[in-house]
Amino acid sequence: MSDTASIRAFAETTLAGIKTAARHRSLIPTVRQGKGKTTREGSALISFCDNDYLGLAHDPRVISAAQLAAQEWGVGAGASRLVTGDHPLNAKVEEKIAAMKGCESARLFGSGYLANIGTIPVLASRGDRIIMDALVHSCMRAGAQLSGAAVETFRHNDARDLQAKLANAPTGGRTLVLTETVFSMDGDLAPLRNISEVCRAHDAWLMTDDAHGFGVIQQDNRAPVQMGTLSKAIGGYGGYVCGPAALTELLTNRARSLIYTTGLPPPTLGAALEALVIIEAEPERAARALHLTRLFCELTGLPAPQSTIAPLICGEEREALRCSEALRARGFLVTAIRPPTVEPGTARLRITFSTTHDEADIRALASALDDIGALS
Ligand SMILES: *Cc1c(COP(=O)(O)O)cnc(C)c1O
Repeated sequence: MSDTASIRAFAETTLAGIKTAARHRSLIPTVRQGKGKTTREGSALISFCDNDYLGLAHDPRVISAAQLAAQEWGVGAGASRLVTGDHPLNAKVEEKIAAMKGCESARLFGSGYLANIGTIPVLASRGDRIIMDALVHSCMRAGAQLSGAAVETFRHNDARDLQAKLANAPTGGRTLVLTETVFSMDGDLAPLRNISEVCRAHDAWLMTDDAHGFGVIQQDNRAPVQMGTLSKAIGGYGGYVCGPAALTELLTNRARSLIYTTGLPPPTLGAALEALVIIEAEPERAARALHLTRLFCELTGLPAPQSTIAPLICGEEREALRCSEALRARGFLVTAIRPPTVEPGTARLRITFSTTHDEADIRALASALDDIGALS
């Protein structure tokens, strides 16, 4: 067999297994138009699966900021921030994020994924220990794996289980604890106060992932390391890590996903800065997104939401796909979320809300879910 033929055979065999498990994924051309509207293969749909919770991706002020930055400074950074020099917009965005989060300092990364896989190995390495919530995002797991530290999990949102794991600590080495503030696939909040206390009592460092909180839900978060993304409520792209200034300086020297990758493009930085200003000036945007999520949960009888994410657990992969397809036929885009993104047996519709949704659309979605038998 030629090398190309053997790669093709390998890929085809692997894909066949993925398809048999109803876990096959594909890229479907879809154009987001703002205000929750989206077009897929010729049909107009209302999307309830974006993380653009505040509708800032299409905000005219954010678009102009990106256009101006592109005109002034071009569309690319040219190289790593350490090589071509650091565009001053980076520092402006970092200062703004640090101030909004009440942290001493912030460091930008190319994305949230890059922030996690770059930062975790700086904080822990061989001989250390990482204890993470069982449901943390794939990129926290990837960072933990890359670090070379011993990795274990604690039961989801269970500070007591974390405490038991910490109490059993082998001596020597550092311990890093990882959790999310708002869990991406369930929308529930971590008990940050309890987790922080337990960490402090056991000299463990806590790092939180605020991807779905920043801009939407401000919790009392005392974690010394707080990462997040500019790609969700902020509406654009990029990631960040906040912490003591000495830590962000260390990241500049050690985080491989910062050093060996190109800086964020100026239009992306300009857009982020404008979006952050809007978030601060218009808290009603987040309040409305949360209000709409509560309205939806009331209409459908789902548990009261803690964020702008409402999971509707379907169970098996095929049932989640059936519901998603039936919704699409009724004009709604809600992608089925299947393992390995979520635990086996918990395939779901992950329904998310944005300040730009209309109440009428939410009522229509609730009755569509009822019609297709997703609520029984
Ligand atoms: C989306 C997400 C990330 C990754 O952020 P990107 O900027 O999209 O790379 C990290 N953590 C969580 C919990 C997320 O949901």
